[in-house]
Amino acid sequence: MSRPGYRGRFAPSPSGPLHAGSLLAALGSWLLARQAGGEWLVRIEDIDPPREVPGAAQAQLDTLAAFGLHHDGEVAYQSRRGHLYQAALDRLLADGAAFECHCSRSALATAGGIHRRCVPRHRRPDPAIRLRVPDGCSVAFDDAIHGRVAQRVDLEVGDFVLRRSDGLWAYQLAVVVDDADQGITDVVRGADLLDSTPRQMLLQQALGLPTPRHAHLPLLLGADGRKLSKSEAALPLRVDEPLATLRRLWDCLGQSPLADGASPSVAAFLDRALAAFRPDRVPLRAPRVCAAAHNTNAVTRA
Ligand code: GLU
Repeated sequence: MSRPGYRGRFAPSPSGPLHAGSLLAALGSWLLARQAGGEWLVRIEDIDPPREVPGAAQAQLDTLAAFGLHHDGEVAYQSRRGHLYQAALDRLLADGAAFECHCSRSALATAGGIHRRCVPRHRRPDPAIRLRVPDGCSVAFDDAIHGRVAQRVDLEVGDFVLRRSDGLWAYQLAVVVDDADQGITDVVRGADLLDSTPRQMLLQQALGLPTPRHAHLPLLLGADGRKLSKSEAALPLRVDEPLATLRRLWDCLGQSPLADGASPSVAAFLDRALAAFRPDRVPLRAPRVCAAAHNTNAVTRA
């Protein structure tokens, strides 16, 4: 199952501690990378200071280590890579692929927030920069778990933001620049980002960058049926009981129980998991019983 040159990554935003849903994405991408004999990188996506929780990035790295998910190389921090995003943006502006946009949020509200043409009477000192999405633009790709996925980007997304009016970099630009710069061959992440992939592919094409393979893992849903978030609503993981959590996440990935004895070490569990992992068994959606995993295995915060 070795795939020469495979390089995967896990790229959390430090907006809170890792919860079971984000750890599921970390475990899935780690298993796929290691099973392919490849590398697995960690990148902290800290480009949104207003949403950043102090100490969260280090806590996320500590959690990964406690769960035995060790990365290769140095951790990359997006906050230190603005020069790369600026260079990409300059190219897109010079090519005419990107443009300054003075439209306010309220001006776009009538079109459901989808930008197709600038509203001429608006002019602001702090324009956003968007990628121009041509009329009729349809992007399709083959996801390893979801199969063929297609999106009409002009109708469903519109011209999308690369640099926000507050000067912050948009996730879409930063992730594309970094995945290419770091030589990522396989993007494995949560299915909440499935609909971002066509945007990222358009940017890759506009910048002449390769498109990695994609696998979007099932999301864990909270009791309300919504995706767990790293915000206050999602309880952090207990790092003192990593095996119980790893077993639950293994179930959520659709895998058969491991014959791993009563209490192996985390490293021994992961070794067995690597030998037994069957990517073709990963479901589109996590079974309901998995959805509660974070509740039974979490500590309540004061
Ligand atoms: N930073 C994103 C998140 O925490 C993930 C980005 C990605 O994997 O492409 O949801």
